[in-house]
Amino acid sequence: MEHSKYDYLAKLAKEKDFTLIAVSKTQPKEKIMDLYRLGQRDFGENRVQELLEKQAELPSDIEWHLIGHLQTNKVKYIAPFVSLIHSVDSVKLAQEINKQAQKINRVIPVLLQVYIAQEETKFGFSPDELLEALEQGVFESLKNISIHGLMGMATNTENKEQVSKEFSSLKKLFELIKSKQYQYLINFNILSMGMSGDYEIALKEGSNMIRVGSLIFGER
Ligand SMILES: *Cc1c(COP(=O)(O)O)cnc(C)c1O
Repeated sequence: MEHSKYDYLAKLAKEKDFTLIAVSKTQPKEKIMDLYRLGQRDFGENRVQELLEKQAELPSDIEWHLIGHLQTNKVKYIAPFVSLIHSVDSVKLAQEINKQAQKINRVIPVLLQVYIAQEETKFGFSPDELLEALEQGVFESLKNISIHGLMGMATNTENKEQVSKEFSSLKKLFELIKSKQYQYLINFNILSMGMSGDYEIALKEGSNMIRVGSLIFGER
């Protein structure tokens, strides 16, 4: 593992005031513990089963982030402990998280995932779809989720201008939504964008939360 990369990013996060999520999917628990001992607490996983196994055995003060597509039938397993769900990509999923959170008397922090890439495999709301849903107040009655912001992934390309453009469009959408001052979006302040290959561009375009895996842990 490249501790020097981790040290660099952790220091940068403090200086520039963004949150570094160490994406630990497919990584063994020992590697997570290495970073934990260095002070890292925010870890990201994309599979529920893997997350459950790790959560059961690793320290309880780890903040677990679910960053991958979440099936509605699996929400109940992570509802009791998950710190932030980045990948709310449908109203139906938001409703299910709200329902499971209500059962256990929790308010679960979530991000709405927005589709900004020119790839067909990415999940998320389109910007227009999201604006319309917000205008219609579809999340307003969901008292057991707290919408903290947006998450997005840029196209996986070497074309930096395109990546910049996509992140910039997400930042604009984020600011637009904030400017509407919806009563139920008082916690709307997280913009989760940027991974190993594009976190520098993302930070430049206004990200305040990056999700970095391979750069810290090495190739999966
Ligand atoms: C895997 C993953 C990451 C981290 O990717 P790296 O390229 O390894 O940094 C970030 N976000 C999501 C949603 C992921 O699935």
